[in-house]
Amino acid sequence: MKVKQVFSAYNFQARNSLCNRYCSACGEKCVKKEAGGRERDSCPSCGFVHYENPSPAVSVLLVKDEKVLLGKRAHGSFKEGLWCLPCGFIEFDEDFLTAARREVQEETGLISEIESIISVMSNYLTPNLHTLVVVLVAHVIGGELCPGDDLDEVQWFSFSGVLPQMAFEADENIIARYWNTRIKGIPVDEDF
Ligand SMILES: [Zn+2]
Repeated sequence: MKVKQVFSAYNFQARNSLCNRYCSACGEKCVKKEAGGRERDSCPSCGFVHYENPSPAVSVLLVKDEKVLLGKRAHGSFKEGLWCLPCGFIEFDEDFLTAARREVQEETGLISEIESIISVMSNYLTPNLHTLVVVLVAHVIGGELCPGDDLDEVQWFSFSGVLPQMAFEADENIIARYWNTRIKGIPVDEDF
């Protein structure tokens, strides 16, 4: 199976990244200025440069008895009604393993143990949302299955069966790749 780690949900090359921003430090209207090798929104008053970077996130393939746990995205959330792996953004003061366990618990009610890293993916989702996602394999060690946070439903799906309508191509890809290749990934830091 072909390895794929970059996913575009829209034509990001045609995106105009320079929009009408106001300085987050002083409130002045930003202007376009060269900084660090490309044009960026910069503040003419205090000099603050608005660097744009993808948001770091985690996605967790929770596996049990040849099944994977998926959540149905809640009404009002991005991609509502579609299904995805438990996932979320990493807090500034949080390591990615802690973030993964926290997201699993918040979204599914389950306590998980992370086994390995199976991929890292770039997702160009919308003009305002680009993510870099560390994909982890985990298993359940406790808790009770219950949808929380941004999900309306959580359910185990057989790897060999039909998946529901998925929110992200990256999730479909990694689920298929995991099942087709039984990829083990690399072990994670046991101290976290
Ligand atoms: Zn400023």
